[in-house]
Amino acid sequence: MTRANGSTFPGPEFWRAFADERFALPRCSACGAWQSYGARACAACDSGDLEWRDASGGGSVYSLMERHAGADAARVLYVVVLRLDEGPLVMGAAYALPGALRPGARASALAGEAAVEGLPLFEVAPETA
Ligand SMILES: [Zn+2]
Repeated sequence: MTRANGSTFPGPEFWRAFADERFALPRCSACGAWQSYGARACAACDSGDLEWRDASGGGSVYSLMERHAGADAARVLYVVVLRLDEGPLVMGAAYALPGALRPGARASALAGEAAVEGLPLFEVAPETA
């Protein structure tokens, strides 16, 4: 079932897996290439034969937007685009210290956690690690 309002983005298959502490993405059955959320056809070979498979949930921050600070401003919510280790770019949410998050930082999906502003939550590794 598809919802026009987008409230279930990245889709019910994704959230079922995420609630089960798995990070799933569409993968092409024809050539094996991983796809971003919402793909209807393979970006590599154009096959429409995609199935949801478990991915690592790891990647690096590709771009980011500071969303807002909490009441104590100790942590800021970022909307991030991540380059996953499997290749696709995906959107997510992450908390970090104000101004501390940079492109290239390592991130991993916090599968099992609740969505933040409709996005899957990622944990960002400290830059000093
Ligand atoms: Zn393919």
